[in-house]
Amino acid sequence: MTHLFGLADCNNFYASCEQVFQSDLRGKPTVVLSNNDGCVIALSKEAKSLKIPFGIPYFKMKATPEYRHVQVRSANFTLYGDMSNRVMDTIALNVPDTEIYSIDECFIDYNGVPNAEAHAKQLSETVRQWTGIAICIGLGPTKTLAKLANRKAKKEACGAVDVTDMDIRNDILKETEIGDVWGVGRRWKARLLLQGINTAYDFSRMDRRLARDMMGVVGLRTVDELNGISCQDLEFITPDKQNLCISRSFGDTIHTLDGMKERIHYFSTRATEKLRSGGLVASAISVFVRGNRFRPELPQYSNSVTVSLDGSTSDTGEILNAALYGLNKIYRPGIPYKKAGVLLLDLHPKEQAPSNLFTKSNPQREKLMHTMDGLNSKFGPGAVSYGQIPQSRTWYMSQKMLSNRFTTHWRELLVAK
Ligand SMILES: [Mg+2]
Repeated sequence: MTHLFGLADCNNFYASCEQVFQSDLRGKPTVVLSNNDGCVIALSKEAKSLKIPFGIPYFKMKATPEYRHVQVRSANFTLYGDMSNRVMDTIALNVPDTEIYSIDECFIDYNGVPNAEAHAKQLSETVRQWTGIAICIGLGPTKTLAKLANRKAKKEACGAVDVTDMDIRNDILKETEIGDVWGVGRRWKARLLLQGINTAYDFSRMDRRLARDMMGVVGLRTVDELNGISCQDLEFITPDKQNLCISRSFGDTIHTLDGMKERIHYFSTRATEKLRSGGLVASAISVFVRGNRFRPELPQYSNSVTVSLDGSTSDTGEILNAALYGLNKIYRPGIPYKKAGVLLLDLHPKEQAPSNLFTKSNPQREKLMHTMDGLNSKFGPGAVSYGQIPQSRTWYMSQKMLSNRFTTHWRELLVAK
């Protein structure tokens, strides 16, 4: 049976969230800075056309005369987390099922939806009307192809592109550079180029045995996915990814806080393991919960909360502490919960983490995390789990250009004049 996946991705998400609520930013080059106002982590389309390099340190940008007029905001993860929840809710209301993949991306189950491309175009329009955020949707028989279709939709600013048709697909595969294929990134790009594999199309024609020898089973699956053979359990984390999401629908509904704590504990633990395996740290975590949309007669509820971590960390204890604090804030009794998840935000390599006067690295805890990861990879996930929560550090981040939390704090709501 052929599948049909959609991949919805918000355009310039963090910058768009800022522009939605601050009309003076619209049409102007706008950038968002990482925690502690270190470097540029998001650009509006106007900022992209100025060719401001992604990741440029803020002090360098400030010193560049051509960038003098650029509007600057500190990262406001509370606002982005809440806007993400609105976008995801709007999409979920209009399609059979979704799987949240990152703060601004979700996969859509489009199986059995007639005229899926037209539906997706309409959906992107609905999301823009309801939330103010522009999104593009790519459709294809595998997740990797849906990702590819999404790039094309973005390039053409057309709402949605479907690559199910072989002619359309081959054209797009040929014009996609190898480094832009989902999961290839910097890791394999150089090696593939050496083999004369320059485009996604070349990659799809690659000898399967060679792919396996060079890149293992994940590489082989990527080749298969480009050929329309779906490997649904595909899960990538690439070092340049800015956030990391773990979420699941539950087999049955969960009615208790303890039951939800157990799930959030599990998701947070898995997410921090992935974080460490990529050599990354995070500086905020979003937690979200959803009721059972397929049973409209039951009480419905959906909410999310974003909690700043004290500095950048990959420590399971600290992240778990923040996640459970978040869950306590949004949990409502009397709801049959069907879905939940956690999103780690503002990821960067550990060595690049902004150092803080009050942040001391703790070699003993790092050793403990390392040992736990070793045991869990040897004996299976959850073989050793984390129970004790460390005392949290308390200090405040420098966020001098922080916009209001327009959607989540009464005192910071947008005022209409
Ligand atoms: Mg995006």
